[in-house]
Amino acid sequence: MARRKKIYEGKAKTLYEGPEPGTIVQYFKDDATAFNAEKHDVIEGKGVLNNILSEFFMLGLGQIGVPTHFLKRLNMREQLVRSCEIIPLEIIVRNYAAGSLCKRLGIDEGTQLPRPIVEYCYKDDALGDPLVTEEHIAAFGWASQQDMDDILSLALRVNDFLSGVMLAVGIRLVDFKIEIGRVYDGDFQRLVVADEISPDSCRLWDIKTGQKLDKDVFRRDLGSLTDAYTEVARRLGVMPNNPPAPGKPQLVN
Ligand code: UDP
Repeated sequence: MARRKKIYEGKAKTLYEGPEPGTIVQYFKDDATAFNAEKHDVIEGKGVLNNILSEFFMLGLGQIGVPTHFLKRLNMREQLVRSCEIIPLEIIVRNYAAGSLCKRLGIDEGTQLPRPIVEYCYKDDALGDPLVTEEHIAAFGWASQQDMDDILSLALRVNDFLSGVMLAVGIRLVDFKIEIGRVYDGDFQRLVVADEISPDSCRLWDIKTGQKLDKDVFRRDLGSLTDAYTEVARRLGVMPNNPPAPGKPQLVN
């Protein structure tokens, strides 16, 4: 079989040309990076877990009518997605204070926020993905006002969905990051949730113990990242090689 054409190699994923025009294959690597790639490691099995977890979340979003780029999982490490034009913003939604919000505003980690807070960062590794306001986004033309209204609504729907799914398995969704892409259907453009949704891009804490089950385990050297991600996959009933009854996450008492 002819080798596929590599389109882009990121920190945690490689993108290849898909089999049909307008499709892309996302290959999930085992590489873990933090602090703008200053910390790097290869963590066996991480890519497989993120591929399966991202599939689970994207399919669930599709089922409640939130459009995503996801088409189908191809194998343990790859999924087929619709190619889209990524809006150069990281959209962050926060329910509890953590990470950069604590540093910026001096709020204690874990403080429940009065309502979900949505933030935008400009996607630029060289600049360290700086926080930007809607003024910057409008002035530099990264997204239109209509796009921003749609992005806010998508971000809050993703937040409600993910919060509920995680709550059902005893996990608190502290915050997460999504990326949004534009797809073109003829003359029409619409926005879809793109990239990935996985413990690499969310903060997930066990509700009872507060144990971290996300990339902070790697960022802060808190133990095995694979064990943490496996625990998330196990609770959601999507462990690789152990497919559960379809659509039935396990309830945690
Ligand atoms: N996040 C991400 N990619 C980034 C920056 C942040 O996936 O490049 C996620 C991060 O995992 C967390 C949320 O976005 O779930 C908020 O991150 P924060 O702004 O607190 O940044 P951090 O403390 O991770 O630098």
